[in-house]
This record gives sequence, C-alpha cells and structure tokens, in this order.
Amino acid sequence: MILDKEKLRSNLDRVIWDIEEARLKRSEHLIVQLCVVAKYTDIENIKTLYNLGQRNFGENQVQQLEARSKELEELPLAWHMIGTLQKNKINKLIDLNPTLLQSLDSLDLAIELNKRLETKGKNMSALLQINSSGEKTKSGVKTEEALDIYKQIQESCPNINLKGVMTIGAHSKDEELIKKSFDTTYKIYESLQDSGATICSMGMSNDFKLAIECGSNMVRIGSALFKD
Ligand SMILES: *Cc1c(COP(=O)(O)O)cnc(C)c1O
Repeated sequence: MILDKEKLRSNLDRVIWDIEEARLKRSEHLIVQLCVVAKYTDIENIKTLYNLGQRNFGENQVQQLEARSKELEELPLAWHMIGTLQKNKINKLIDLNPTLLQSLDSLDLAIELNKRLETKGKNMSALLQINSSGEKTKSGVKTEEALDIYKQIQESCPNINLKGVMTIGAHSKDEELIKKSFDTTYKIYESLQDSGATICSMGMSNDFKLAIECGSNMVRIGSALFKD
C-alpha cells in the first residue's frame, strides 16, 4: 500500500521524536541510528522516506533485498539484511554488497559465510545476533556463549568484519522481561567494546523506547512508520 506522503512524514516525525526523547533519558551523548524496516511496505514509500532523509533500510529476505536494491539502485541507500540467512542464499547476499548483515546467528553460518567471502575476495560487516530472551522460536546465539562465539568469529573469519550485536526483545507484555533481554544484550555489547564492537542493534516498533533507554544505538522500525 502506498501511503500518503504527509502521513508517512508524520509517522516518521513521531518516531524520530520518540527516539530523541528516549536517547536523552539515557544520555545526551548517545547517538541512535534508525534502520527503516521496509519488508511490509511499497517501494514508493521507501522513496518518500529517502526524500525525508532516511538512508538505512532493512529487509528480512535476500530475494526482497535484491529486488529492491536493484529497483532503487540510483539512490545512495544503505541496505541491511535483518532476517535469517539461509546457507543457499549466502552467495546472492554477498553479490548484493549489503552495508550490514545484522542477523549472523551462529558460528556455523559465520564459517560458511567466510568461506564464500574468501572465494569471492570480499568482506562483509555483520552483527552477531543474540537470542537474549531464550525463546525457542528465536534465532541467535545463547547469551552465555555470545562472548566466546564473537571472539571465535573474529579469530577464524577474517573476511567478516564484526561490528557489534543485534537482538530481538522478549515477546511478552511484561515490560520487565523485555527490559531484561535488552539489559543482557547491552552487557554483552559493553564487554565487546574492547574487541571493537560499536553497534548495539535492539528495539522495534513496540519496544524501541525501552531499548534505547537500555543503551541501544540502532533501532529497526517498520510498522510504526507504515501505519495508516
Ligand atoms: C520485522 C522486523 C523488525 C521491525 O518490526 P516492527 O515491529 O514492524 O517495527 C525489526 N527487526 C527484525 C529482525 C524484523 O524482522
């Protein structure tokens, strides 16, 4: 659905203002990046948000990422892969030169990705996805293994440039539980700063304010922007 430009603008203004408010609660020095999750929306809306200053866009499927990044080739957009990466899509993703793979969710996948990157003579920036809520349906490494796996990837995968961590907050109405998953992820991020981590990606439409208050510096927002 193509949204009215004024509606999109007011949704974006709301989100930016909410980010600002949450950021100031945490720290004046915290800079938060917005990654617009485009998976639900039409290409026309992406163009509108580009004209309103947005540059980072996320997709959760390689095919969709391919279609859109090709269709919008003339715009200087930064594409993020945020969904589970199947091994049979690795080569395609590499060819698309994404800005950031946010969903690197196992050592196994990292090793396979590194192998293909090496063959193609390329590098890719990525975030280690952490299953901070421990929910069975969620991807990501276990919280207690995250530090080890991060360091193993750094040691054994020279073509992967790890930039930090990503998580999806607990699926719950209980704010304390959601906060716990963000706090846990932030602690891991903090201990990885010495190893070069600079991005802590957490927070979606329903929980981004809380995520920022817990220290997130990248939020991934879809439905709050595209509601009519
Ligand atoms: C869909 C998705 C989002 C955005 O979700 P909204 O609730 O619509 O903001 C963020 N991160 C990931 C990994 C997603 O798959």
